[in-house]
Amino acid sequence: MCIFCKIIAGEIPSTKVYEDETVFAFRDINPQAPTHILVIPKSHIASVAELTAENSAVVAHIFEVIAKIAEEEGLAGGYRVVSNCGPDARQSVQHLHFHILGGKEMTEQMA
Ligand code: 5GP
Ligand code: ZN
Repeated sequence: MCIFCKIIAGEIPSTKVYEDETVFAFRDINPQAPTHILVIPKSHIASVAELTAENSAVVAHIFEVIAKIAEEEGLAGGYRVVSNCGPDARQSVQHLHFHILGGKEMTEQMA
C-alpha cells in the first residue's frame, strides 16, 4: 500500500480536513504556505498521467471539495492548486494529489 493509501486507511496518522466516500483531504506534513492541504482520491491513481475516461470523474469532485475547503479555511484572498506529475515536477508520492496553497501572496513565478 502506498503512503497516502495508508493515510486514508488510518494506518499513518494525519490531520484530516475533509472526508467523504471518494475523497480525503489532510494537512501537508511539511507546509510550504500558511495553509497547505493535500486533496486525494481514495482510489489509488498514481498521478495526473494515469487519468482516463474511466477514472477521471473523481477529479471534478476533488475540485468541488477544494472550493469548499478553501471557503472553510478562509482563503478569500485566493489560493493556488498544484499537482506535481512525474520526476521533472518532483512528484514524491505516487498517489494523485492536489496541493491547496494559500494564506499568503504568492510570487509571479510558477516554476
Ligand atoms: P509531491 O512532492 O509529491 O507533489 O507532494 C507530496 C507531499 O506530501 C509533500 O508536500 C510532503 O510534504 C507530503 N507528505 C509526504 N509524506 C507525508 C505524510 O506522511 N503525511 C503528510 N501529512 N504529508 C506528507
Ligand atoms: Zn495510494
